Amino acid sequence: MSKMLEVSNLKKYFKTPSGMLHAVDDVSFDIEKGQTLGVVGESGCGKSTLGRTIMRLHAPTSGRVIFDGKESGSFKESAAEIKEHHKNMQMIFQDPYSSLNPRMSVSEIIAEPLINYHMYKNKEELWRQVYELMDTVGLARRLANAYPHELDGGRRQRIGVARALAVNPKFIVCDEPVSALDVSIQAQILNLMQDLQQQRSLTYMFITHNMSVVKHISDEIIVMYLGTVVECASSDDIFKDRLHPYTKALLDAIPVAEINNNRKERTLLKGEISSPINPKPGCRFAVRCPYAEEKCYNFTPELREVLPHHRVTCHYAEKINHLSVNHRED
Ligand code: SF4
Repeated sequence: MSKMLEVSNLKKYFKTPSGMLHAVDDVSFDIEKGQTLGVVGESGCGKSTLGRTIMRLHAPTSGRVIFDGKESGSFKESAAEIKEHHKNMQMIFQDPYSSLNPRMSVSEIIAEPLINYHMYKNKEELWRQVYELMDTVGLARRLANAYPHELDGGRRQRIGVARALAVNPKFIVCDEPVSALDVSIQAQILNLMQDLQQQRSLTYMFITHNMSVVKHISDEIIVMYLGTVVECASSDDIFKDRLHPYTKALLDAIPVAEINNNRKERTLLKGEISSPINPKPGCRFAVRCPYAEEKCYNFTPELREVLPHHRVTCHYAEKINHLSVNHRED
């Protein structure tokens, strides 16, 4: 398998009146072709900014993004190169209503990217492609002239999916695409996205704060906290061997039915999130971490391999998880 995306030391800082906000700080990861990387974390952890920086909706502060073997995301890209970049990488947004132009009909919204990229020979071919895209995402053709406000959330998100697919992208950043939908509709959209991935060999970066959704859809997962990656492994390994205290708390927050009062001990987070503006050296999770020691407040931990293909940003991951060094307890 070859890599679709290689991200190295990516940073995106924003100037604010109080200082430099480190929204994405030294983030590195790869995504294999045809796979889904889940990106999880609380609101404000930088996951959406990461997606938008990779998409070049934000210019990166520094770092490298190699897309399908070609360097992108550099400061030297021309407008034409960025447009080509967007053709290969598309985005599906959280709120299908606000991301769709309310003055355009369903067919006009889906046709727009085809027109922008001149991907049709004549009007007949354009509308044929639009109708085929509507079929692909399960939108009835009779809705072609409807407007977004006339449709429910699920149908609106299907328009967003059709619009993203129109230009035959290789890679789609899905930014909380089901968070605004009812649970039953969420399952329909997730199943649609998985079917499309199989049919079109798509690669996804799936951003969400919902751990149940990320488990369902991801091959690999990165967990973000205050702009940094704190854990990175396959979906199976993260759910089996959660190693970082923050990941433990995130997974423990998933609601589960308690049968016979069989209550498991849970890691609950206390304390305020530190500020992402001019962060001090040390672990960014220290003020909320039940295992924090003096070293955590003074030295920044590195993302390092603690189990095979399982990396964690924590000085004491082995001690917390009762692991002997260089040994996996299966
Ligand atoms: Fe907790 Fe220290 Fe590990 Fe940070 S480095 S997660 S504060 S134990």
